[in-house]
Amino acid sequence: MCGIYLDYQSASPVDPRVHEFAERYLTCDFGNPSALHTRGLGAKAALEEARSKVAELINAEGPENILFTASATEANNLAIRGAAQRNAAKGKKLLASQIEHISVLNPMKDLKKAGYDLALVPVDATGIVDLGALESQISRETTVTSLQYANSEIGTIEPIAEASDIVHKKGMYLHVDATASAGKIPIDVQKEEIDLLTLSSNDLYGPQGAGALYVRPGTRIQPVLFGGGQERGQRPGTENLYAIAGMGEAARLARMEVAEESLRLQAIRDGLIKEILKIEEAYLTGHPTKRLPHHASFRFSRIEGESILLTMDAMFNIQVSTGSACSSRTLEPSHVLLAIGLRHEQAHGSMVMTLGRQNNPDQIPAIANAATKTVERLRALSPL
Ligand code: PMP
Repeated sequence: MCGIYLDYQSASPVDPRVHEFAERYLTCDFGNPSALHTRGLGAKAALEEARSKVAELINAEGPENILFTASATEANNLAIRGAAQRNAAKGKKLLASQIEHISVLNPMKDLKKAGYDLALVPVDATGIVDLGALESQISRETTVTSLQYANSEIGTIEPIAEASDIVHKKGMYLHVDATASAGKIPIDVQKEEIDLLTLSSNDLYGPQGAGALYVRPGTRIQPVLFGGGQERGQRPGTENLYAIAGMGEAARLARMEVAEESLRLQAIRDGLIKEILKIEEAYLTGHPTKRLPHHASFRFSRIEGESILLTMDAMFNIQVSTGSACSSRTLEPSHVLLAIGLRHEQAHGSMVMTLGRQNNPDQIPAIANAATKTVERLRALSPL
């Protein structure tokens, strides 16, 4: 029997249409976009086409507002360090929600060592950022406030437009990590008045090895890497043409298909939530309705998330996650689950299912049955 993959958020397959579109940039139409010969000019044209497609996905003012990077981590670092350092004369205060991804929190913690002040904005029990606290924590010296569009561990979608109002009344720039949400729900950087926004290629079904940072016109950042003049000097280094061309095509497809695909996945997600909550002492984590359409996250008392993941994989050939793949080897309880008020032992029993193109409603009974059997088995073995 073929397995059922439910961990799209940590890695997604490359859409075959994307690979078919971009493959030629690996083999025949390769070239350095900075070279002046025809191969170089062709590569440059492919790069600019991708820039336009990514700009359209988020309704950016123009393609010139998109900088390509090698990953979402790099785009988050460029946004935070680049804006904080460029605007240090105006203030050295940084703000982020307590539940940001570590690729946002860690560059901020590193800046703290260099004399910046970092404060974390609390969230409620469903993961929604406390806007009142944001308002009271922000000041004229706050140059960068970073809030994710939606959380990758608990699926909660944040009130970005309202947060943006607050940030712009008092502070300076709002950076939004949209890695988990772009292509899953519509994003409009102009309507929501976002200054800096991070995207990842693979989360759009594009190749690994590309990310992007949207920079609103007038937003001042400085590079964090130094080298050539690529990406308007803001992100030097020869561009990964295959990954970037693929990211562009993936963004174009996502823009065309997001509405229909979200509805399809949401129906599967709701079916899964309904079935899995029938398990004794199973709880949904994150917001019940303001959540990503492809995202279902739970916690089960008296068992460990790692054991759930391994049992679902070994016995049922179903791949789930316990939270963020980036911190899964630490065995520390997730900072996200602690921030929404769970105790350590509660935070340890989490299971995250993220759905994608290869899932369908016929899989719901098999997934629910596997989860039920897994939980029963682990509880029978549990000393708790
Ligand atoms: N932000 C969020 C919300 C994420 O979930 C991830 C991991 N997929 C990242 C940033 C970093 O992405 P990457 O590891 O591809 O750089």
